[in-house]
Amino acid sequence: MKSITVVLLLLALGTVAPAQQQVPASGDSADWRTPAERSDYRTTPRYDETMAFVHRVAAAAPGQVKVEVFGKTGEGRELIDVVISRDGIFDPQALHRAGRPILLIQNAIHAGEMDGKDSCLALLRDMVISKTQARLLERAVVVIIPIYNADGHERFGRYNRINQNGPEEMGWRVNATNLNLNRDYMKAEAPETRAWLKLWNRWLPDFFVDDHVTDGADYQYDVTFGLSAYAGNDPALNEWQQKTVTPYLDKAVAASGHVPGPFIFLVDDADPTKGIERYPSIPRFADGYTVLQSRPGMLVEMHMLKDYKTRVTGNYEILRALLEVINRDADTLVRLNREADAAVIAAGKRFDPGARFPLRTAPSKDTEPVLYRSFSYTRELSGISGQVWIRYTPEPLDITIPHPARLDVTLAVAPPRAYIVPAQWTQVIEVLEAHGLRLERTTQAWSAAVDTYRCTDLKWNEKSFEGHHVMFSPQFSARSFPGRCDPVHEKLSFPAGSAVVPMDQRAAKIAVEWLEPEAPDSAMAWGYLDAIFEQKEYGEAYVVEKLAREMMAKDPKLREEFEQRVATDKQFAADPNARLNFFYQRSPWWDRELGLYPVGRLTTLEGLPLSQ
Ligand SMILES: [Zn+2]
Repeated sequence: MKSITVVLLLLALGTVAPAQQQVPASGDSADWRTPAERSDYRTTPRYDETMAFVHRVAAAAPGQVKVEVFGKTGEGRELIDVVISRDGIFDPQALHRAGRPILLIQNAIHAGEMDGKDSCLALLRDMVISKTQARLLERAVVVIIPIYNADGHERFGRYNRINQNGPEEMGWRVNATNLNLNRDYMKAEAPETRAWLKLWNRWLPDFFVDDHVTDGADYQYDVTFGLSAYAGNDPALNEWQQKTVTPYLDKAVAASGHVPGPFIFLVDDADPTKGIERYPSIPRFADGYTVLQSRPGMLVEMHMLKDYKTRVTGNYEILRALLEVINRDADTLVRLNREADAAVIAAGKRFDPGARFPLRTAPSKDTEPVLYRSFSYTRELSGISGQVWIRYTPEPLDITIPHPARLDVTLAVAPPRAYIVPAQWTQVIEVLEAHGLRLERTTQAWSAAVDTYRCTDLKWNEKSFEGHHVMFSPQFSARSFPGRCDPVHEKLSFPAGSAVVPMDQRAAKIAVEWLEPEAPDSAMAWGYLDAIFEQKEYGEAYVVEKLAREMMAKDPKLREEFEQRVATDKQFAADPNARLNFFYQRSPWWDRELGLYPVGRLTTLEGLPLSQ
């Protein structure tokens, strides 16, 4: 949007006094309060008013602020990001070359949770207009997405967040097709996600923040946060996040008068003494996804019951503190990211059968005691719900409760040298492309015995989740896989144009998470390969009856096996279809591709028909 349009828009909205219609010079007495500040935090601005503020700042600081359009929502709104750079260098490549860390801050993925947006408008102003936070740009460059879920944001209303204490009206949790964008990072179905992935790949930020507001228990903390907790984290990056960043944020946020704490899920919402859950950040979530990109990701969750002013200013303080540590440790952060990329690329250059890439984790059985800053509460049996009703009082109550000591890896694989996806599985391939992975295409048909899986006993969720009948329980999806995929070495055919995904690339972890069938957010778990489990030809009973007799006459061992099964397996004995299928499955008529995973795990690239 051009500045003249902004002025017209501001006039149309009636949001500014006439004195502010011209862009004020720095030091002017013009009112630079954000829309939320002007309402004393009663309200949060709509999309147009938010973007008008952003454009007004950009017009007043053209050498330091650039507004970009990075895509469109389903309903056709522009997706906007704002780049803030001390010296007007806005080119990601030049910034990477100069070793300047880039922080990407995302707001309003859940568009009822508006704290981050309003705190970022204040931070933007304070970095380049009031300049009280100009030092935060010394080394760092900041990219802000003011409103990610723009369609959800404009489903504005008073009754969108029953648990939340203000602002008066706000947006809605999901996008215009009822998809939760914070479950879409891996399958990348929404237009917003596709646009976000392009933005990510263009900027390749050094650090990512996703701003939210909690649901869940009441407690003293107003600023809760967590840095990517997933077993696939780069170890050195993980250590810097846990040992340097987290303590710094805790200290700085507390010093500003807010109450920082970890992002908390209680085991039992009606009984805090049962302890705190430990969840991994799996790739469908923003902060889990950045792990696959070897970049630190931080989830900020402001507490829903604190007043809006406390939340917006608390969100501001944690972003300010994070930028302090990013500036201070700029060289460390940039180096750790480069080394993490190099490590992924080096590991991908050859197949190591002993490598263990973690796919699933579960909280350890052993726990450790942690201090939990609760409010005191009463518990009584409710005549309405029939369950225990917890009621919090305003009295602080510090208690020590159990927390699983760690996440234990429950499933791990050795990544191959490359995956090969048959050309006809276009949706599976398109998602890999959307993530920016480097794919090579085969130049002619190729078939070979390769490593893959045979999957059986799968269970689908009856109720749909994000538009899919997924192969996981949405709540505990990271812990176990509802079925089994056994490794096999079988001959598979790949037509010309099949996609080869070599693992010596920086984002190779995405391919593992998408193509290992038992991974929590794999293409198979999300239902993209459901058709391979559908039996398409059947033997009529009177045909198979004849076949069974012929087979048993030829093969006494088979007869023995069948009779044994009938004698020992009651369920089998009682199921005529299973009894006939016993023979059909052992005959040459059976479809050997049923349940055979079509993606190959290659241990070498040699012999593949690839163009040089
Ligand atoms: Zn949220």
